[in-house]
Amino acid sequence: MIKSLMENGFADIASYIDKERLINTFTDLIKINSPSFNEREAAEYIASRLRSLGCDVFFQDYGESFNLIAHRNGGTESAAPLMLSAHMDTIEPTQGISFSNDGSAIKSIGNTVLGADDKSAIAQIIEAITVAHEKKLPVCDIEIVFTSAEEKGLCGAKNLDFSRLKSKHALVLDSGGSVGSIVVGAPSHHTYEMLITGKAAHAGIEPERGVSAIRCAAKIIAEVPDGRIDEVTTANIGIIKGGTATNVVPKEVVINGEVRSHNAETLEQVKKRIFDTAKKIASEHGASIDINVKEEYNSFRIREDDSYLKFLSEIFASNGIEAKLAITGGGSDANIFNSHGIKALNISNGMQKVHSAEEFILLDDLYKGCLIVLATIISFQR
Ligand SMILES: [Zn+2]
Repeated sequence: MIKSLMENGFADIASYIDKERLINTFTDLIKINSPSFNEREAAEYIASRLRSLGCDVFFQDYGESFNLIAHRNGGTESAAPLMLSAHMDTIEPTQGISFSNDGSAIKSIGNTVLGADDKSAIAQIIEAITVAHEKKLPVCDIEIVFTSAEEKGLCGAKNLDFSRLKSKHALVLDSGGSVGSIVVGAPSHHTYEMLITGKAAHAGIEPERGVSAIRCAAKIIAEVPDGRIDEVTTANIGIIKGGTATNVVPKEVVINGEVRSHNAETLEQVKKRIFDTAKKIASEHGASIDINVKEEYNSFRIREDDSYLKFLSEIFASNGIEAKLAITGGGSDANIFNSHGIKALNISNGMQKVHSAEEFILLDDLYKGCLIVLATIISFQR
């Protein structure tokens, strides 16, 4: 499975990476504004780079946006493809990004994010393939999936046309922190909306005739399980909306919340407790309640003895990086890929303080993340 290149170490391979070119690719990308659902310009840039490296590139439209899917034949015989994935959109604000490069890190210096999440990953993947192309290295067949609107609820991944893909394994680069951690588990994430309907009445003339949806909602919010439920389960109410004027007993309130858990049974139990509590309180208040639940994505857990995980850990080790297995409380495109039967490991690629104006990436991590991709596509044979 792992070629002699690996036994000899990847020192030579590391020297093939053109650090300046990698930095330029990254900064080219962050200069292109690409908030969720507006990824076209960034995608055109990526597509032209990939086409020059022997990739077939296809934009898979899904209405609200599109995914970039690319294939590259590695030239090695009968090797199954490996999927490399990142997302093209960035969280806002991104308009007018400015950054500094002090020789050790690239940082945002304005009020915007840097966009290293997830453009540093795209740059690392492009550079790794550029090296393979330029040096004519034997690498596995590659399927590249760059999604859109990941930040808006994994929209691109959820709408990905999986019939276009043959990969059974994926390397996703969309986890923060220095290079070395591998996300092996992420929770299921369900969201819900509760509509509480009471009865409107004039608050000064006949409050007795009203049923306050706000008072009912307040009691529900105070009583349902919230925050950290156990080590692998959380719940949160994130939005409440309701009421029209101070002189009206409020008729309607909408509550939006979520539950996450690595444990499917606990997830169902917590949801049941929340909804049973809400229904009981609503009926005590004489209000009605309507609850809608949405399964945003499902959990995954890769076993410690999994051969793909072992393979990837060895890639890290042979490049002098200790792999740390991590369980996360957040979701990523990897959740969607795993639920479609593609074993997807999400690795940290060096981006730090993402989703903030302090976002940065150490140049050393930018190179290391690229090296991991390069070493992986050289060694991957299935
Ligand atoms: Zn991301």
